[in-house]
Amino acid sequence: YTGKTGAELFTETIKKFKVYEYQSVPVVVKEGASVYDAISTMFLEDVGTLFVVNDDSCITGVLSRKDLLRASIGNQDLDAIPVHIIMTRMPNITVCYRDDLIVEAAKKLIDNQIDGLPVVKDTDKGTEIVGRITKTTITKIFVELIMEEHF
Ligand code: ADP
Repeated sequence: YTGKTGAELFTETIKKFKVYEYQSVPVVVKEGASVYDAISTMFLEDVGTLFVVNDDSCITGVLSRKDLLRASIGNQDLDAIPVHIIMTRMPNITVCYRDDLIVEAAKKLIDNQIDGLPVVKDTDKGTEIVGRITKTTITKIFVELIMEEHF
């Protein structure tokens, strides 16, 4: 018996969780895709954040629900607006890496008031996107931990 409290064990366990263990598949659109395409993709794939990639599959932007809503207000022809005009672009994208701790990723979500982070890998071509961490990822971990009754 270690003499540690339940809360201490809980904290110790969570602090070891890595991004690669929980990341999900990123949903992406090309830079040339229209706002209309992006809205369709968001519904079809049932996600709240889309990542924008170039022809080398490297990340160039992020699109949130509100980005797409904003672009839609008062615009007749959503097919005519390419997403690269309205996206949040590099280097202003907050990213994480597969070996980062989940707690660090969660802190970035809170500090930057965003819903999702791309999990990226730096290559000679640019910043490749390999996954995503969202508020849902963190909520799932929370529920799983409690349901597993480790503590
Ligand atoms: P919503 O706008 O739907 O509430 P977010 O809070 O995730 O969704 O997005 C807020 C703003 O931050 C949007 O303009 C979005 O493009 C941008 N954003 C979202 N994710 C990131 C990120 N990982 N890095 C930088 N900016 C982001």
